[in-house]
Amino acid sequence: MTLRAFGVKSRAMLAPLLVAQALLLAAGPAAPARPAALAPAAARAVKALLARHGEAERPRIERGVRQAASLWRPADGDATAFEALALDQFAPAGPALDALFGRLESALEQLDGHAVEVNRELSRWSVLDLGPMQPIDPLLAAYDAAAHLGDDLFAGRIAFAALLNFPLTTLGERLEAGPGWTRRQWAEARLAGRFARRVPAEVNQGIAAATSAAELYVAGYNVRAHHLLGPGGERPFPGGKRLLSHWNLRDELKAQYASPDGLPRQRLLQAVMERIVTQTIPAAAIDDPTVDWDPVANTVRPAPAATIEGGGAPRTTVDGAREPDTRYAVLLGMFRALSAADPYSPTAPSHIARKFELERELPEARVVALLEEVLGAPEIPRLAALIRERLGRPLEPFDIWYSGFRPRTRFAEADLDARTRARYPTPAAFAADLPRLLGALGFTPERATWLAEHIEVDPARGSGHALGAGRRGDKPHLRTRVGADGMDYKGYNIAVHELGHNVEQCFSLYQVDSTLLAGVPNTAFTEAIAFVFQSRDLLPLGLPPADAEAQRLVALDDLWATFEISGVALVDLGVWRWMYQHPKASPAELRQATLRIARDTWNRWYAPVLGVRDSPLLAIYSHLVHSALYLPDYPLGHLIQAQLEGHLAAVPPERLGAELERITSFGAVTPDLWMKNAVGSGLSAAPLRQAAARALQAAAR
Ligand SMILES: [Zn+2]
Repeated sequence: MTLRAFGVKSRAMLAPLLVAQALLLAAGPAAPARPAALAPAAARAVKALLARHGEAERPRIERGVRQAASLWRPADGDATAFEALALDQFAPAGPALDALFGRLESALEQLDGHAVEVNRELSRWSVLDLGPMQPIDPLLAAYDAAAHLGDDLFAGRIAFAALLNFPLTTLGERLEAGPGWTRRQWAEARLAGRFARRVPAEVNQGIAAATSAAELYVAGYNVRAHHLLGPGGERPFPGGKRLLSHWNLRDELKAQYASPDGLPRQRLLQAVMERIVTQTIPAAAIDDPTVDWDPVANTVRPAPAATIEGGGAPRTTVDGAREPDTRYAVLLGMFRALSAADPYSPTAPSHIARKFELERELPEARVVALLEEVLGAPEIPRLAALIRERLGRPLEPFDIWYSGFRPRTRFAEADLDARTRARYPTPAAFAADLPRLLGALGFTPERATWLAEHIEVDPARGSGHALGAGRRGDKPHLRTRVGADGMDYKGYNIAVHELGHNVEQCFSLYQVDSTLLAGVPNTAFTEAIAFVFQSRDLLPLGLPPADAEAQRLVALDDLWATFEISGVALVDLGVWRWMYQHPKASPAELRQATLRIARDTWNRWYAPVLGVRDSPLLAIYSHLVHSALYLPDYPLGHLIQAQLEGHLAAVPPERLGAELERITSFGAVTPDLWMKNAVGSGLSAAPLRQAAARALQAAAR
């Protein structure tokens, strides 16, 4: 897990809102208002600037005035004020433009970096293990010093100075021309790109309210496992299990592969998931220990007193009415709130375009092609045959979550605990050992020392995370949990993962040639680097890393997991496309469309491999409801990691540090360009497939 500049705040402090309210909030797209006579004022500004700076500057003048005018609002001032600002702030190419570039580069680094520091200081009592918390601590932790930064930069006209002088670019331009750009051109594109959207506060509030309502809905969606009844009325699950949909339902289903009589429980859990996505689930069966539910026959009845966890009073009756499409009403609330921002984002005028073109910087069609390459890969049917053989039965839909490729553990957990506890009685001991630990991972003594000096280790309340810095002079922080008897192996394993984030954060802030390009293209890239560290965590303990057999199992597990989540991602995208085509849809219509999209996706890619048709299971992910097109990031993350691992596997261990420094010092360009610099080719599904193909070959021998 990693927290970058602005991802630090929880939503816990947002006022809880009901789903119905969220639906009412978004009024639908409206064109942004413009002051009267802005167009003639802009034309006069162009003419005056041409007279002042000459024809050579015409393309920059026309572009700059057009860009600034497109985001000017009545509250910024009248047309005369716009004209005056344009004449004041346009800088001709050469020393004046270079000076402006330098000022903005430095100013934005200071603004962002200090906001990170203020937020980090204000949340320290909540996040760090510093004794009992006070009632004020969550309020301080929820404060965000950068919350209004974007608005302030427009209100203070700094944003307009940037828009007047530096180019807004489309993803198409960055992809086509970007590989030939100078680093300065890349930095300028990032500088202007920051101001490509100007979403009004009330639209952002609507998005926050809809998201908060969706998160509340998802967070309360538990299934009481002990109250699931089998076909004969039996109760296959023990008391006390509260399974949050979909995460715990899926993980419980996976865990049942280890149990010899797990199959009936897996079928029951699959029936629960189907009832949720089809919204045939009885509303009374959600998170209520006084209700027994047979999800196959879909009948409910009062739970006997002795089975009720927490000792609540038994009911006399239960209403079997289905959940009234709330799942889809909540999703529509997200759609309406997010699409209200469309008119304020001229270069990417839909949420789909913003996710793919502004955030991921991968065109939608390219992502779909990558996912379909995985779904249709010739290795998939071979892998399915191997799973069928290992299970000794025909596959069922829930086998998309087959978990039997986990390698057996080579070292006893207690032995590993003893080693890490002896080494690291305190977080300070871990911090002091960083130079040696990084040396064991392949960094030279000089770089290991430099990194250790730039990483601050803190005692965490939670399991740990890495918090990046936003300006040079500040340090990334590694938060780790160390118990009273020292750091156990689990904590150490997580700390090494977080250390991977911190190393990336150090290089990608301090070694990149412009702070405007600091970072990596997106979270999947920093996660891939963190996993490179995590998978090598035995080396610093003086133990041998994973053997060839374990690596083969990991490759098979990776391909199957990517196969599963690729279809889920396509359903997410299909549902968003449908909502844009049917903006006035009712929750019931959205339910029908979602089920159709999920079943079509299933029948195209999964039915031929698993042998069962028409499963709606791919629509069970809760992210579909509350994360607004986040799901494609998961399969992309698998591809990125396999590609990076495939490249690093061929690097001699003692050169690993230097290679990681080279790769992470390139900065936040597009994913394809970053990957090309890292491994020699753009983003690709081939390394993931090839690793699995080699493992399948070895398994066949
Ligand atoms: Zn992570």
